[in-house]
Amino acid sequence: MKKLYIYLSALFIFSCSIESNENKIGIVIHGGAGTILKENMTPELENSYMIKLEEAIRTGYDILKNGGPSKDAVEQAIRVMEDSPLFNAGVGAVLTNDERVSLDASFMDGKNLNAGAIAGSSYIKNPISAAIAVMEESPHVLLSSKGADDFAIEKGIDTVPNSYFITERRLNSLRSLKNINNISYEDPFLKDSKYGTVGSVAIDINGNISAGTSTGGTTNKIWGRIGDVPIIGAGNYANNDCCGISATGWGEHFIRNVVAYDIAAQILYKNEDIINASKNSLDKVKATGGDGGVIGLDKNGKVTMEFNTAGMYRAHMDNDGNITIKIYKD
Ligand code: ASP
Repeated sequence: MKKLYIYLSALFIFSCSIESNENKIGIVIHGGAGTILKENMTPELENSYMIKLEEAIRTGYDILKNGGPSKDAVEQAIRVMEDSPLFNAGVGAVLTNDERVSLDASFMDGKNLNAGAIAGSSYIKNPISAAIAVMEESPHVLLSSKGADDFAIEKGIDTVPNSYFITERRLNSLRSLKNINNISYEDPFLKDSKYGTVGSVAIDINGNISAGTSTGGTTNKIWGRIGDVPIIGAGNYANNDCCGISATGWGEHFIRNVVAYDIAAQILYKNEDIINASKNSLDKVKATGGDGGVIGLDKNGKVTMEFNTAGMYRAHMDNDGNITIKIYKD
């Protein structure tokens, strides 16, 4: 009898400890923020975005639901968007001044603050996977240009010719942008041609938060311009003690305002709510003349999807599988 009592008590303690280890899972993604207005969208195009966003978020969610790590959920959700010409990442990315594609991406692991990034890659098919490989298989955090491409080849990561990434739509945007004479860097057309970056933040059953972001940067970029996306703390950040954040928008302003870390710091030092923290940081972006948006999850799975542009492609799935997919302002 005494033995049975000890056995049952042990079983009870064991099952309690399993339960307390089970965190609520969640995943959020974005496909860029900008002047996305319903009146400029055809129903077909809108539908294509909704379908792709749903495919991406469900891909990540299924991994989490099966007990998989947030790293895999973020990577696979982003790869779906990188492989779609709809977004400014991977195939369909925006073009540089010399009609090429140059890709940036980063990944951060909130468990140990490990991070990896690539910038200015010409050949990496799925930059998010290369960013993860930099984190896991190199002693560095950020590799650039030829070095990033050489690293990918050495590690057996898929590479493709630069022409693989180029689409008619992006070629037309670049050419019409170049046809505008005396363009100013404050020109709204130039500003609006910047957007379409993709990103994801996920929290898994063990409470580990991961964040990833991937982009072609800005249309007509020149002189090897690199934006906020591969800069840890600017376009991407994750820390299990507070949150994960992925940003999209006018990269120069996201670098200057260290946006992703600024949100995390408010939560860490001021115990600020993740939505308020996002609004505060986006206000700072606005104050320096920029705009854009952020997505993120805090350590309890609370979601943020804030932006100060007309729209942001975005989706969220919570622990119970409830799904939200949106493009425009509420
Ligand atoms: N933030 C990206 C960059 O400036 C662009 C974007 O989010 O669309 O490179």
